[in-house]
Amino acid sequence: MKALVLNHLVNLADHPQPLTLTTLPDPVPQNHEILIKIAACGVCHTELDEIEGRTPPPRLPIVLGHQVVGRVAAIGKDATRFQPDERVGVAWIHSACGHCQHCLSGNENLCRDFRATGRDVHGGYAEYLTVPEDYAYRLPDVFSETEAAPLLCAGAIGYRSLRLTGLHDGQNLGLTGFGASAHLVLKMACQRYPQSRVFVFARSEAERAFAIELGAAWAGDTATESPELLDAIIDTTPVWTPVIEALKNLAPGGRLVINAIRKEDADKAVLAQLDYAKHLWLEKEIKSVANVTRRDVSEFLALAAEIPLKPEVQLYALADANQALRDLKARRLRGAKVLVIA
Ligand SMILES: [Zn+2]
Ligand SMILES: [Zn+2]
Repeated sequence: MKALVLNHLVNLADHPQPLTLTTLPDPVPQNHEILIKIAACGVCHTELDEIEGRTPPPRLPIVLGHQVVGRVAAIGKDATRFQPDERVGVAWIHSACGHCQHCLSGNENLCRDFRATGRDVHGGYAEYLTVPEDYAYRLPDVFSETEAAPLLCAGAIGYRSLRLTGLHDGQNLGLTGFGASAHLVLKMACQRYPQSRVFVFARSEAERAFAIELGAAWAGDTATESPELLDAIIDTTPVWTPVIEALKNLAPGGRLVINAIRKEDADKAVLAQLDYAKHLWLEKEIKSVANVTRRDVSEFLALAAEIPLKPEVQLYALADANQALRDLKARRLRGAKVLVIA
């Protein structure tokens, strides 16, 4: 099969073509697995973290990509959930152990043996992939393949982030950063918390205009003081400055949820400006979001179909994945980037 592989960890600024188009043997589904012929795969900021070594794949070469949509092409022994040609999706969670305390309590995202699609095993920047059948999802018909792809990561993790805020309808929600995940969270928040007002902090004028277009009550630059205190804030940026800025905008008892697998170190010095009285006192909380569970993905897909939540997408050919990654790195963002594979 055709696949784009990552052979070496590199800095994208110095190596604008981190992925190489190559041919790999077609994967064969093992027991309880299915083989998927991939139609589309979303491009996620986590791929940059993998390429640049902030969350390095344990083995190279590896096929990246964890927002995978395709059709069942073959069924392994003892796999019974799907029929040939059924449309399915695969998300960041490729598998977990199934028997540790985290798995048994529904927090399989925290399992020590959590394996991520496109990092710990080959992912979706290719023509085929295999996955345990219990970690594949049927996709609501309302979504096209390219619409469904970004829902599987940005949407599902956005859903988990929103859940972890503990927000009540009518409370103010802030979003710092306005990329693929945040624009979906804004749409979800408008649906689930119709009385709440959403305040968006983004660096670019285009992102702020997009946020207002999608229903934000207010949008301003990351460093701007919020016009009102916020009961919860979701940070989806890869850096530290917005964390400090967000804490000062948080209401007493408010919670900052950081939805980032890794933070970049470039502006880490800003953390020295943390002022306990201004940023943390009055029972403000900080919580990170780690991975997703199958429950997050399934519940989110149902909610997304109900709204319906159609992500804005920007399409690239598989061979142009390096360009998509460079555009993502340069924050040339308007919605989610998706590779069209077949
Ligand atoms: Zn992702
Ligand atoms: Zn486990």
